[in-house]
Amino acid sequence: MLDRKEINLDLSNKCTLECPKCARSQYLNKKEVPGNFLSDHDWSLIRDYFKCVNFCGVFSDPIMHPKLPEMLRDCFERNIKTHIHVAASQKPKDFFEECFKANPKARWVFGIDGLPSDSHKHRVNQDGEKLFEMMKLSKKYVARTVWQYIIFNYNEHTIEEAIQMAKDLQVEFLLQKSARFTPNDPLRPSEEYVLRRDNNGYNSDSQWSHERKNAKR
Ligand code: SF4
Repeated sequence: MLDRKEINLDLSNKCTLECPKCARSQYLNKKEVPGNFLSDHDWSLIRDYFKCVNFCGVFSDPIMHPKLPEMLRDCFERNIKTHIHVAASQKPKDFFEECFKANPKARWVFGIDGLPSDSHKHRVNQDGEKLFEMMKLSKKYVARTVWQYIIFNYNEHTIEEAIQMAKDLQVEFLLQKSARFTPNDPLRPSEEYVLRRDNNGYNSDSQWSHERKNAKR
């Protein structure tokens, strides 16, 4: 790892959502997901070494770390390329705004799977309408705003509407198929929206969302 200049970070063991396929679900019957907040010391080592930081938790949502604004500011001041993926909506508006202001060069990706009023059907506990407002607010401050929309049965019929909304707001729209559906998954979409993998485990339609995006913008 030491010769890599890019890192993906789980900033803590915290998330307010309960997405059914999340890695956190293996700890559902336990008291808490193991781990803690990333310490100041560990962050100081990371920020002084890496050239690109991806705040995209596997077991957590980055917005849960109380020092996220400071970390984003550090990245900006050191010219560290910054990506941040959020889906948890529970932090106050002021906190989101402080984060946006801290790093004008950051790329923010908002996980809103469907129209804002429907997203909680996968993103359990999410206030999709609030997060959608935060996504709109981010446009005032940050370099790139992306609406990530994973396709499920409850939202496959609203894709065109969402694409138009993204266009109107001038945010990037990232439509994604998932390969994680079991045959009887209650959220499984139509077969054309299920991601296929070839025998080597590679995504056989990796260009799909890119082409889809270009076709509609
Ligand atoms: S938002 Fe991310 S970390 Fe939180 S439950 Fe959903 S997938 Fe897991």
